[in-house]
Amino acid sequence: MIVSSRDELTELDRQIGDGDHGENLNRGFQAVVAKLDGLEEQPAQIGDVLKLVATTLMSSVGGASGPLYGTAFLRAAKVTGLAELDSSAVVALLEGALEGITARGKAVPGEKTMVDAWQPAVDAAVEAANSGSDPAGVLEAALAAAEAGALATVPMLATKGRASYLGERSVGHQDPGATSTVVILRAAVAAVDA
Ligand code: ADP
Ligand code: MG
Ligand code: MG
Repeated sequence: MIVSSRDELTELDRQIGDGDHGENLNRGFQAVVAKLDGLEEQPAQIGDVLKLVATTLMSSVGGASGPLYGTAFLRAAKVTGLAELDSSAVVALLEGALEGITARGKAVPGEKTMVDAWQPAVDAAVEAANSGSDPAGVLEAALAAAEAGALATVPMLATKGRASYLGERSVGHQDPGATSTVVILRAAVAAVDA
């Protein structure tokens, strides 16, 4: 799914960055798939899969997004030593991811980064879990909010990351990292439905 979004993400990064976001993530997630395929036995615990994703992204993705997503998956991994997730574990996983991204990148909502997708996603996940949604419902709520959050980055002025070098010229374009956040959450929803 990341692979099929590569060109869209690259095109967005061409507008307000250096045009490598699609390729960065494509390389990273291909490496994750290769690592998993190379294992004799698939990890039994979700946290172990997330940890493998984290270390692979950190070592294979250059650019800002590698360490950011790497830290996100690493923090997400901490909260899940389970084979299956209940709704509150899904919330904890998403909260961990957002904490990782903000610990690493120090961005707050409104700065036109992936945080503008992750923060509403986490808020929506908390709300869905509190109102009794099952794990799939929690993830779907997070995805819908991330989609709206990514769209809301269009009119924002970038004040973090490479796009901030453009100043006013960053306005009017959707943030690549907020968009890849949507792609990743969409993949998570699809994996749960499968
Ligand atoms: P680079 O800018 O180094 O080429 P990428 O193109 O892979 O890296 O990723 C760019 C994305 O990274 C941006 O669209 C933005 O969402 C995200 N980003 C950059 N800096 C930060 C930060 N400090 N905090 C959160 N996200 C950030
Ligand atoms: Mg880039
Ligand atoms: Mg780059």
